[in-house]
Amino acid sequence: MSDNGIAREKCVIIGSGPAGYTAAVYASRANLQPLLFTGQEPGGQLMITTDVENYPGYPDGVMGPQMMDDFRKQAERFGTRVRMELITKVDFSGPVHKVWTEAGEEIHADSIIISTGASAKWLGLESEQHFMNKGVSACAVCDGFFFRGQELAIVGAGDTAAEEALYLSKLSPKVHMLVRRDEMRASKIMRDRVKSTENIQIHWNTEAVEVVGGEEVEGVRVVNNKTNEETVLDVKGFFVAIGHKPNTDIFKGWLDMDNAGYLVTQAKSTKTNIEGVFASGDAQDNIYRQAVTAAGTGCMAALDAERYLTEKQII
Ligand code: NDP
Repeated sequence: MSDNGIAREKCVIIGSGPAGYTAAVYASRANLQPLLFTGQEPGGQLMITTDVENYPGYPDGVMGPQMMDDFRKQAERFGTRVRMELITKVDFSGPVHKVWTEAGEEIHADSIIISTGASAKWLGLESEQHFMNKGVSACAVCDGFFFRGQELAIVGAGDTAAEEALYLSKLSPKVHMLVRRDEMRASKIMRDRVKSTENIQIHWNTEAVEVVGGEEVEGVRVVNNKTNEETVLDVKGFFVAIGHKPNTDIFKGWLDMDNAGYLVTQAKSTKTNIEGVFASGDAQDNIYRQAVTAAGTGCMAALDAERYLTEKQII
């Protein structure tokens, strides 16, 4: 279908992580003929992960990029059209939703599924990039297991860092927690748990300045920002837990979001405040943030979109 020469789709999916591709599998099997825009990082955060061992159905684990390739193929098998392009602008003012690609193409859609994900924040050190997936990680639940029995460091002092430090403390004999101030931002209960865990050593007023090693991480150089004293901690894994940023900037002004930019959905659904626009995956989840939970909400979004299109007698 077209509106005055502008392509009109039943369902546009924005984003290509587990949420987007799962939405695409369900939407294409429901004959919504979805058009999926991958965004700048096709495959999302899993493309910067090595082994994924906690996704059910892969008893021997799977490499993150391989898994996302499998997801894409499964979506394409049922007719999803995948475009390696970025959506840079939306207009949700009318009953028909409008999106624009980076190249300026306008597309109209009766339903939109957002699965733009979130990006981990990094410290910005060159060595952090260098050792990415060779001992540097932004996800303790994903990668902690690979470092069991080894000393580790984690940077951050919010609830995520506290939760991840506690998780790592069950795998590692010693976890060094680097806190840049003399207090932690995490909730009291999490702070107390961290402080009372014997094998977590909190380094107050301490910042990481360099990750060091050869082929893999062998340590992290830290500095006390009060005394300027530098030391190297002998760790094999360096975890960064300084927050995530949901990729939702283009929806500002259209969709309800919390202070951090996570999209707000109605309870037990993926509905946003705009009819026909559904949100799934990490773009609306700052708590679980797992591939399997993202995939689950992608499925929900496709089912919600299908119901919406049926109610509106569009399909
Ligand atoms: P937060 O923004 O709450 O915390 C980020 C932490 O990282 C802060 O302690 C901050 O330090 C530190 N930080 C930021 N930049 C740097 C840097 N360059 N160097 C060193 N440290 C840095 O992010 P979270 O991901 O922890 O939490 C996000 C939200 O999700 C919060 O509202 C949290 O409560 C919630 N959450 C809830 C959970 C639950 O309920 N189970 C679990 C996890 C998160 P500083 O304090 O000095 O600014």
